[in-house]
This record gives sequence, structure tokens and C-alpha cells, in this order.
Amino acid sequence: MELLKKRIQSDGLVLNDSLLKVDSFLNQQIDPDLMLKIGEEFAHRFQGEQITKILTIESSGIAVSVMAGLALKIPVVFARKKKSVTINEDVYYTKVYSFTKQESNDIIVSKQFLQEDDHVLIIDDFLANGEAAAGLAEIVHQANARVVGIGIVIEKSFQPGAKKLMDAGYRVESLARIASFSNGQVLFL
Ligand code: 5GP
Repeated sequence: MELLKKRIQSDGLVLNDSLLKVDSFLNQQIDPDLMLKIGEEFAHRFQGEQITKILTIESSGIAVSVMAGLALKIPVVFARKKKSVTINEDVYYTKVYSFTKQESNDIIVSKQFLQEDDHVLIIDDFLANGEAAAGLAEIVHQANARVVGIGIVIEKSFQPGAKKLMDAGYRVESLARIASFSNGQVLFL
């Protein structure tokens, strides 16, 4: 998605050889117009698929997911992150190792928001090692629902997440795919 790539080039900050900061339009300040276009692009890429729900993870996946939900006219559910959950019959939960925080979190979704006849599009802001997306897919499977695909705003293709998810059989659609960070510059695939 050219508009997104241009925005990453102009406003993204390469923090080190594996971390990109996009706080000015996605992760802290949010550009609603860009979010809307991203949501519409996800809807376009997955048009023709039967999708009943979007599943994302708090907090940075929510803005783009709401816009995709608006375009697809379907509800958006987000998994909550908790330090640890006490086992509870009312929630699906799994453990996810956070790439940015370098710690494990439990992620939980209330059982009332995922049914076995749901066809779920998973959306997240970044794809690195694939932990967050795989955790969300695990929750969909716990509900005996189906994962239609995984939509990612920024994929760091030099990290193993995308290959891992595709090898597991998921359709992955990433709107910007980064080949490397070199001398503080973002190089796209
Ligand atoms: P993964 O679970 O695929 O290893 O990492 C994806 C998650 O970690 C995303 O939900 C995102 O919040 C965070 N993340 C991974 N890499 C980056 C990055 O380069 N920049 C930012 N801002 N977040 C990242």
C-alpha cells in the first residue's frame, strides 16, 4: 500500500535493527484518515471471503480493525492483555510473548464474543515473530471457529512471523512489507 509506505518513510523512526517506531500515526497519535484507508484496503484484499468478525489485540490493533469492520460491516472484538488470568470458564485465553515488552502476557477473549460458526479475520499492527497473531488464532481455534486470514499493517519480513504463519496454512496479507532497516532507513520488499 503506497500511501502507508510513504508515511512510514516520512514519519517512521528506526530505533535499532529490528524495531520501528510509528507513534505519530499508528501507535500513539492516530491518523484517522490513514486508518480508514488501511481498513478499506483490508476489506478490499479479503473481499469475496465470508467473514463474520474481526479479532485483534489491544491496543494498537483496535483503530485499524474498527475501520476494517466499518468497511466490511462486521463487529470487531479485541483480546485483552493481562499479566495472568485465573482459570475461568467464561473466557478463552492463551499466553503470548510480547516482542516489544519482552515479557509474557495472557490474552483473553470472553466466550460470548466468539462462536463456532464465526469466520474470523485476525488483524494486528505489526508482525515480527508471529506470537500475537498465533495467539489470536489459537483463541479462534479454542472457540471451534475458523480463521479466514491474517491482516497486518506492517510486516517485518526479515523476522520469522510471516513464514511461520504461512507455513501453518494461514493467508497473510500485509500492507507494508519491510525487507530490512539499514542505516536508519526502511527498505521495503
Ligand atoms: P510478534 O507477536 O509478531 O512477535 O510481534 C507483533 C507485536 O509486537 C505487535 O502487536 C506489536 O504491538 C509489537 N511489535 C513488533 N514489532 C514492532 C515494531 O517494530 N514496532 C512497534 N511499534 N511494535 C512492534
